[in-house]
Amino acid sequence: MEFVLEAFQSNWIAPAGPNLDAFEEDFAQLVGSKHAVAVSSGTAALHLALRLAGVGPGDEVLCSTLTFVASASPITYLGARPVFIDSEERSWNMDPALACAVIEQKARAGKAPKALVLVHLYGQSADIAPLKACCDRHGVKLIEDAAEALGATYGEASPGSFGLFGIHSFNGNKIITTGGGGMLVTDDGELAKQARFLATQARDPVPHYQHSTIGYNYRLSNIAASIGLGQLTRLSGKVSRRRSHFKAYAEAFKGLPGVTMQPEAPWGQSTRWLSCLTIDPQVAGVTREQVRLALEKENIEARPVWKPMHLQPVFAGAETHGGAVSERLFDQGLCLPSGSAMSEEDRNHVIAVVRKQFS
Ligand SMILES: *Cc1c(COP(=O)(O)O)cnc(C)c1O
Repeated sequence: MEFVLEAFQSNWIAPAGPNLDAFEEDFAQLVGSKHAVAVSSGTAALHLALRLAGVGPGDEVLCSTLTFVASASPITYLGARPVFIDSEERSWNMDPALACAVIEQKARAGKAPKALVLVHLYGQSADIAPLKACCDRHGVKLIEDAAEALGATYGEASPGSFGLFGIHSFNGNKIITTGGGGMLVTDDGELAKQARFLATQARDPVPHYQHSTIGYNYRLSNIAASIGLGQLTRLSGKVSRRRSHFKAYAEAFKGLPGVTMQPEAPWGQSTRWLSCLTIDPQVAGVTREQVRLALEKENIEARPVWKPMHLQPVFAGAETHGGAVSERLFDQGLCLPSGSAMSEEDRNHVIAVVRKQFS
């Protein structure tokens, strides 16, 4: 409220202003990237990243199959083709060995993919190092989709800060929000400059309105950035709150047959943006869907884990490598209420309803 009021009082109600600059600076510092460009959504940030990575018509871009559609859609905006890669069990994220085998096979055939979109799901970093090494060896541009992983760690660093670009989202459901917005991060100053240029209609630096390439209207407003500036100061508290929800769920479901919480990979800390688990119906005697419907009956919203991209009608026929891991996670996976504002009482209600399905 304080930052938004400041934006109004100083009359910076525009896609420019001091709070926008401050939000970018604070954000870059927080995630350990040299530059941050605030844009209107995470999807817009990914579109810019792919375009600046040189992705164009006919190119192939590797992408995690287990994700939200916005990780893959911008690949098609540029006329390129997504190639979907399955998850690994340790993190639910892209399997590095599988992805690298695909890159090597394509490189040997003389057509290495142009880029790779690596998604960090549900607050959990993927295993970045082996993927980055493989991408670097074959000239594949690494773009990290960290929309769900702000506040997470990979080693001591932030997922999103390793690739040529990282993208973040401030949509209403993410760990921090600006009502709607996103961030593109990179260590390359020239690319950051080009991103700002493309995000503001690609206007040439001359006094009149002149354009030599097609741009977009993707810049975040100073008002939205003011919200983000305030939200950033609360990030660590939000992470610990979400992690405590996960811990409470894990303890309460410990003895339940067939229930497995999303593992935390050994390479870093998850934010537990969403508390997710799987239910093996053979062991549990109850399906994920039965549990979800029982929650819904109590007016508690829980959701299946993302439906893999290679199973989406819009991507029918897309090249896919593996698929069994993400398909099982989709069949058996459930995301429980995880908001940082959720009360202990509400959480206990969720726990009681889930436990009841097993008695
Ligand atoms: C939310 C999300 C996005 C898109 O971000 P928007 O700000 O909603 O455009 C991209 N990828 C993943 C994995 C997301 O969860």
